[in-house]
Amino acid sequence: MTATTRVWLGLGSNEGDRSAQIDAALARLRATPGIEVVRVSPLHESELVGDGPPQGRFLNGVAELRTSLPPPALLAVCKALEAAAGRVLPAPRNHARRLDLDLLFYGDQRIDTRDLVVPHARWHEREFVRRPLRELGVDVDSLPRVARPEVVDAPVALAARTATWLAGDCVIGIVPTMGSLHAGHRRLMEIARAECDRVIATIFVNPLQFGPNEDFAAYPRDLTGDLAVCAAAGVDVVFAPSVAQMYDPQFCSHVAVGAAAEGMEGALRPGHFSGVATVVARLFAIARPHRGYFGEKDAQQLAVIRRMAKDLGFPLQVVPCAIVREPDGLAMSSRNVYLGSADRAAATVLVRALRSARHAFARGERDRDRLLARAHAVFAAEPRAAVDYVELRSEPDLAPLPPGPVADARMLVAARFVDGKRPVRLLDNMSLAGEAEA
Ligand code: AMP
Repeated sequence: MTATTRVWLGLGSNEGDRSAQIDAALARLRATPGIEVVRVSPLHESELVGDGPPQGRFLNGVAELRTSLPPPALLAVCKALEAAAGRVLPAPRNHARRLDLDLLFYGDQRIDTRDLVVPHARWHEREFVRRPLRELGVDVDSLPRVARPEVVDAPVALAARTATWLAGDCVIGIVPTMGSLHAGHRRLMEIARAECDRVIATIFVNPLQFGPNEDFAAYPRDLTGDLAVCAAAGVDVVFAPSVAQMYDPQFCSHVAVGAAAEGMEGALRPGHFSGVATVVARLFAIARPHRGYFGEKDAQQLAVIRRMAKDLGFPLQVVPCAIVREPDGLAMSSRNVYLGSADRAAATVLVRALRSARHAFARGERDRDRLLARAHAVFAAEPRAAVDYVELRSEPDLAPLPPGPVADARMLVAARFVDGKRPVRLLDNMSLAGEAEA
């Protein structure tokens, strides 16, 4: 055998005869052509890391191998040994397992395919890996780590990362945001995490979508807090470019938007949706994701992006995500932090107006103008709120509805509150016929 590459393998078991199963796996590795087991660490007991159903303690260690097998072939050997030990594959996350063989390091290679990330993404957080490595005399601080999330700011760096993932057959999800992340953004990332092999969150306060008298400079920014949210949600890469990195000095191409951007936010914020469509198109072009995650909180934005993606032929699925609300019903928004306390209490008027219309709809009211009047009546009782609009639009493209009976409709509202540190505009919307709120 021409054993060429040094490999560190993580060994683990917390079900059945743990040490016998690990020994059996090592014996079969020794018998496998192309694999030499150089040395094995002592095994130690440890508790499950992370959440999972009640289960026994682990026995863990590491083994140093030399192999001529390429990484996918070595991975296949490990998976076959796990299956032979009686592990059910695909294994549910954090359930008890008879045998766990993790490819921790393969020479100095970085591998980032759907089935394999090397160096192992979280090895350095795990004492049950660090301790046996140290016991074999390995300087663990000199070993490479994979930062999760990895933060990149240059578009070419993001494009290079996604090119690797695409070559590795990964399904890529993207969650575009302007940062100052809250539980609504986090939910988008968690949905993306559950549906995709790799998740990109973008954090970019996009000047193109702010008007001259809007709050671009004052928009809340908190990259440190945002990175913690992204890490907790399992994001792989955070793309956080500067304005100059996103738009070079000669930048002059913009996406024009049509009917989807008319009325409501489009009427109140001229140029806003062109700015949104431009930055999102640019993100799609750089990252080439399979799935893009957007909140129904910004329902008109969602309609504009759906249209733009279709019209420009981006081969991705736009995934709508339900609105995440505070316990009192206020839709979460990065701008909520700027509400004074009296306005914060009054701000539930948006969701109260929507619920009132939905309640009427549930009891059989179908007339467009009477449904709108229900919502207006709720706003009229709240003097702190200045209403920008209350509209009833068709699902899913938000086209205007004529007077008369409505069927599948979404109500959209916007209002201003002016008594806090600065004026705050809030948006909300709700499907009248749809399922109960998330
Ligand atoms: P923003 O950072 O405000 O541009 O929002 C980024 C993404 O998060 C958009 O797709 C929003 O629609 C979505 N989003 C913001 N707030 C919420 C929320 N409360 N619930 C669900 N999605 C949200």
